[in-house]
Parts: sequence; structure tokens; C-alpha cells
Amino acid sequence: MKIHFGRMADGGTKAAVKNLISKSFPGAKMEFKDSSIAVTECRPETAADFVPAAEALAGVAWVEMELKEECPLAVSAKKKSHFFDFSKGPVFIAGPCSVDDEERYIADAKALKEAGVHALRAALFKPRSSPYAFQGIGFAGSQIIINARKITGLPLVTEVTDPRQIEKLTEITDVLQVGARNMRSYELLKEAGRSKMPVLLKRTARATLREWFLSAEYLLKYGCQELILCERGDGIGYEFPVNLDMMRTAMKETGLPIFADPCHSAESAAAATDAAVNALAVGANGLLVEAELNPHQAKTDGRHTMTVQSLAAIIKKSNS
Ligand code: PEP
Ligand code: MN
Repeated sequence: MKIHFGRMADGGTKAAVKNLISKSFPGAKMEFKDSSIAVTECRPETAADFVPAAEALAGVAWVEMELKEECPLAVSAKKKSHFFDFSKGPVFIAGPCSVDDEERYIADAKALKEAGVHALRAALFKPRSSPYAFQGIGFAGSQIIINARKITGLPLVTEVTDPRQIEKLTEITDVLQVGARNMRSYELLKEAGRSKMPVLLKRTARATLREWFLSAEYLLKYGCQELILCERGDGIGYEFPVNLDMMRTAMKETGLPIFADPCHSAESAAAATDAAVNALAVGANGLLVEAELNPHQAKTDGRHTMTVQSLAAIIKKSNS
């Protein structure tokens, strides 16, 4: 951690900072420079009180923390999974954007199994920009996804949009998805963590690595034992596809599995296919893909939904 001094800093500022450091972090080593003091040994619990107190001192510009100090659990976490074997190449989670019709969903699930996917998207709740748009089938679709799991043997990944859904979701699905819109829903993150369910956490558009990792830290601190991070691009517009630099940095900074969702920032299924190939090329541990037999029948996001056939070709290539 580094405490940076502003232009107004004087001897009094430095003495006050030193005093605060000694009180907050007894025994910590301090390294003095002209414009900063570096402190080793800082725990995030103590830093949480220290940072605002230091920044309130006259002459202090800002306090800078390293990622490993702010998000120690996310940075030190490793890949762990009951469902996915990451040693055998990329893991594919796929299915329609939303579950609506049983017959179509079961046919999609069977075809996706055949194509080699490892888990099914099983989205019952859709966070939509418009309150008039289809909001998902809700728990009325529980039996549909349970049947799909029974028939295919594939685990289910379901987006959670409200902490009140979690208790029931623990009974019917295998992995909770926290979507881009809810990456910053901290009460939802706490509850998802407490559930001990595996979680896939998307990065929200334009969130920094630090914000993404802090949301991961919430999940891990509150009990999540198995976490996947998923990059999905910086916009719903099309000029910001999957952020490959963000993926590379995330891979360097944590041992957690890093997935990509190539679809939600893509203008078409063809663009989603390109994004999928690019994400795999930088070493994605898996993909979360919208794919179904008849994308033109999809109630939501048909435009960027791949056909099962296109996805099968990507999976085949990644296995060869
Ligand atoms: C989704 O994956 O269904 C979804 C809603 O995407 P995002 O959270 O990336 O907008
Ligand atoms: Mn979608």
C-alpha cells in the first residue's frame, strides 16, 4: 500500500500519516519517499478503516492499494470444480438466451449434448433494459430445466437476479450466474456466496479489473467455494467486443478459471463466432455461449445466438 502526498503536504502531514500507520498496522515496515510512504503488511479488514482516515488528513492525495491487498482471496484463489474438468481443454456452457418453450429447450439440450457442451445455460430470469420486455419464464420453468438435466445428464447454469431466488435455485440448478447488470449488486453477491453454490460472475461493461475482482472477493469472502470469472465485452453496442486484454490480465492476476461470453457484445451470430475463436486463442478456460437449433425462434437475443451446428464446429476445433 502506498500513501501519496499532495502538494500541500508538510512535515505535519507526514508525521500524522506515520502515526496513523503505526496505530493501524503495528509492526508494519514503512518506506519513506519524497512524495509517498509505502507500507508492507496490510490486511484489507484494517485497510478498510485506514484508507478513509488517511485520505481525510490534510496533505494526503490518495491511498493506493495493490490488487493482492484489496482482493487477497480472488488473487490467491485456484480453479476448483465439481462439474468441470479444466484439464481437458476449454469448457463449454451453452443454451438459449432464455428458457421459454419446453419442447424447444429439450431438443436444444439434446443437440447441445451431442455437440459436446459440458453444461446448459438454463436462464429462467432475464434482466431486461425495458420493463415491457419478456422477463423470463421464472420458476414456472423449473421443471423444464430439471427435465433437461435428467435427459442429458448435463449440469445447469442459471442466472440469479434477486437474493430471494437463491433458496429455490439451490434446489433446481447447479451453478449460479451473476450477470453483467448485477456484478455490483453487493447484497446479491453476499447471498450467492453464503449459498455455497458454484458461481459464474460476469464483468459488467466497462468495469475495471479491480471492480470485477472486488465483486469476486465478495463471493469468496461470503463462502463461495467455486468461482468462474466471465468476460463479456464493454458494451451492448457492437464497438466493444470481448476485451481480450482484460482476459489476459485476469489470467495473470488470479488462478480462477476465466471464461468469455462472446455473444452479448456481438452484433450477429457471425461476430459472436469470431469473438469465441479469439477468446479461445488467448487461452479462455471456457465459453458461455447462446446457442440453439433455431435462433430465429428465440424470444430473446436471437440475433447473436449461434446455431448448435456453428458451436459444434468450434468445440470440435478446440478438441483437435
Ligand atoms: C445472459 O448471459 O443471459 C445475460 C443477460 O448477459 P449479460 O449479463 O452479459 O448482459
Ligand atoms: Mn442473452
